[in-house]
Amino acid sequence: MASIGSNIGDVLKTLPETVRLVAISKYHPESAVQEAYEAGQRVFGESHVQELQRKHDSLPKDIEWHFIGHLQTNKVKYIAPYISLIHAVDTPKLLAEISKQGMKCGRRIPCLLQLHVAQEETKFGFSIEEAEAFLREGTWREMKGAEIRGVMCMASNVDDEEQIAREFETAHQFFLHAKEAYFGGEGQEATFCECSWGMSDDYQIAIQHGSTMVRVGSRIFGEREYK
Ligand SMILES: *Cc1c(COP(=O)(O)O)cnc(C)c1O
Repeated sequence: MASIGSNIGDVLKTLPETVRLVAISKYHPESAVQEAYEAGQRVFGESHVQELQRKHDSLPKDIEWHFIGHLQTNKVKYIAPYISLIHAVDTPKLLAEISKQGMKCGRRIPCLLQLHVAQEETKFGFSIEEAEAFLREGTWREMKGAEIRGVMCMASNVDDEEQIAREFETAHQFFLHAKEAYFGGEGQEATFCECSWGMSDDYQIAIQHGSTMVRVGSRIFGEREYK
C-alpha cells in the first residue's frame, strides 16, 4: 500500500498553486496525522468535536485545524480558541454563536457558509435563495467574532460528472455574485475569497469550477479505520 506521504505528494502534484489541500483525518488515528505532518502537511480537517479536541491536544501545535462537519451550537465553545476555519456554517444561529464565542476569545473566527447545491434532501446548508436573503439582510455584519471568508459545498454522491460539475458551478457563480454584491469585490483587502469544494472522488472536477480548497480524506489516508 502506498504511504500517506506519497499519497499527499500525488494529490499536491495535480493541484494548481491557487488551491490548498485540507487533509481530512476524521476517523484516523493520531499516528496517521503525524505521518502526514512529517510529509509536510500542516492543514487538517475534522468533523467531530471530541475527536478534534483529542488530536489538537496531542499533536504538534503548528497544525492548522479546520472543522468540516455539522457543528452543534453548544459545542462551538470548545474549539473557538484555536480553530482556523469552520467550513460548514449552515444556519444564522450557528454563525451568531461562533461570533459570540469568538468575541469571548478575543478573536474573529474565519467561517464559510455551507451552500446546499446537491440533490440529496438530507444535506445541511443554505439554499442559494436562503444564502442570498441572509447576506442581503445584513445582521452578519454585526457579528464581530466571526468573519465570513467564503462558501463551501458538497456535490451529490453520484457518478454523473456533469451533474457534479453543474453543482460546483452553481456554488461558484453564487460566490462570484456574493463577493461583488456584499463583500466589496476584488479589492486588496478582500477577505471573502475561499471556495471549499472537492473530496477524494471529485476534487479534479472541483478545481475546474473555482475551488480554492479541496477536502481530501480517503485518497490520502485510505479507508477510515474506526467510527
Ligand atoms: C469526510 C469528508 C470529506 C472527505 O471525504 P473523502 O471522500 O474521504 O475524501 C470532505 N468533506 C466533508 C464535509 C467530509 O465530511
